Amino acid sequence: MNVQSTIEAESSRQSLQQDSQQVEHFDVLIVGAGISGIGAAYHLIHQCPGTSFAVLEAQDSFGGTWWTHRYPGIRSDSDLYTFGYRFKPWTGPPIATAAEILKYMREVITENDLDRYIRYHHRILGANWSDTDKLWTIVAERTDTGEHLRFTANFFWMCQGYYRHAEGYTPEWPEMSAFKGRIVHPQKWPEDLDYKDKRVIVIGSGATAATLVPNIADDCAHVTMLQRSPTYFRVGRNAIEIADELRRLQVDESWIHEIVRRKILYEQDAFTRKTFTDPEGAKKDLMAGVVAYLGPDFDIKTHFTPRYRPWQQRIAFIPDGDLFRSIKAGKASVVTDEIERFTETGLLLKSGKTLDADIIVTATGFNLSATGDIAFSIDGKPLDFADTVTYRGMMFTGVPNLVWIFGYFRASWTLRVDMVADFVCNLLKHMQTTGARKVTVALRSEDEDMPLLDWIDPENFNPGYMMRSAHLLPKRGDKPEWQHSQDYWAERDQFKAIDLTDAAFVYE
Ligand SMILES: Cc1cc2nc3c(=O)[nH]c(=O)nc-3n(C[C@H](O)[C@H](O)[C@H](O)COP(=O)(O)OP(=O)(O)OC[C@H]3O[C@@H](n4cnc5c(N)ncnc54)[C@H](O)[C@@H]3O)c2cc1C
Repeated sequence: MNVQSTIEAESSRQSLQQDSQQVEHFDVLIVGAGISGIGAAYHLIHQCPGTSFAVLEAQDSFGGTWWTHRYPGIRSDSDLYTFGYRFKPWTGPPIATAAEILKYMREVITENDLDRYIRYHHRILGANWSDTDKLWTIVAERTDTGEHLRFTANFFWMCQGYYRHAEGYTPEWPEMSAFKGRIVHPQKWPEDLDYKDKRVIVIGSGATAATLVPNIADDCAHVTMLQRSPTYFRVGRNAIEIADELRRLQVDESWIHEIVRRKILYEQDAFTRKTFTDPEGAKKDLMAGVVAYLGPDFDIKTHFTPRYRPWQQRIAFIPDGDLFRSIKAGKASVVTDEIERFTETGLLLKSGKTLDADIIVTATGFNLSATGDIAFSIDGKPLDFADTVTYRGMMFTGVPNLVWIFGYFRASWTLRVDMVADFVCNLLKHMQTTGARKVTVALRSEDEDMPLLDWIDPENFNPGYMMRSAHLLPKRGDKPEWQHSQDYWAERDQFKAIDLTDAAFVYE
């Protein structure tokens, strides 16, 4: 916990103890108005009409990730047929800009009259469960006025994403302060940043770097993408033939949405399986896309041949090969090396080579924040999620009436939003029918000897932000019920078969 969150935790605990303020009550309180929180709100009004709820969002608008990130070219790397909700057809090209995603989300909000449930500028600081009252008490701070507000809720639905929106992750390199130019993190892209005719180094080669480089390359004097080690990229057209064909035939958009989703998911399933059963074959398929743009003479071995198995980290999609076209045109280049230290004029690399720059962009990732920096407690006792075991990556042993949405990394995040929402709505209806006021998940007698492991198996998926913070996350078991397997295709069937009367659910 950093100093800021310690202060927030303390102030929220103090606020929780003051009972003089007015308290507003809801059946359900949703944290965050990103793609998850807006999806949660949609499903509540459609599947559980009459439920009172509010969405508390720290920022001044909806969108989450797509509102926070403002760097040039910001776009999805999933197709919007599956990153879009199952209930709202996507009608554009599959890869979308942040602005297009926000427009789609605005339509969902307007069409379903969701504005009246969302409260912006409300950052949740603390949440305490009272077993006597069977309620969560939530303290939020108005980010515009500094005022502290209190809410109570029967059910707490965490749609807070997985990283800290306030700041990105920048490693500490020696002598960073010596650099006379500007250092920028893409998560806080300065509006006034003038990169025209400037020499820019982008540190990193994940999806953000791969998006940024081609989008600024034409304006800059030169852009260098500096990576410690190579990443996999998938190259393809930003178009889906079958969608275009069905549109030509004037097929209804809701049909097109469903058909294209099924086709994409079928193909993704086949490719994901191949990365496990035939990793070398999958690697070859991915690399062929890169070679097609850069040609056989390019040093693919050094710069584009990763050391890990495909899909152990996210694979960035490069629409129409734009990154490789910038490299081929000489506007951008890639250097595979490590930083020894910053200098006045740029970077000294471990190889002894120097890179000069006017601007250095640290596309080095996120700070994981799985619980939205909320100080949780149960009957006043601080709760550490690392001491809990997860039920299917959405509930936690010993934590009553709380679900969080943690999506997929290999498939679109939003697929899990719709699935978790079905689960929550079924659970709420079940509790209403049976008169239960509290539900907690608990290991069953047959789970007693189950090994408790880190949230995610590093052999399966191991990006830096997960590995840096694995110790902060809940534990997983080795059975499907007690883990988030990141396998959409298995979970799609498992979720439908969840038995709410199973002994893993304890009701009061
Ligand atoms: C640049 C970028 C591109 C990505 N592209 C893709 C992609 O193409 N496909 C894909 O599947 N995934 C992608 N991801 C992952 C992406 O974050 C998720 O897919 C998805 O947008 C997460 O949605 P969310 O609503 O769960 O969380 P977020 O988008 O992170 O939104 C969470 C919201 O909760 C709010 N919040 C957090 N804590 C609190 C609090 N304490 N009180 C009040 N409000 C709070 C935040 O302000 C934020 O608005 C991308 C991520 C990034 C950063």
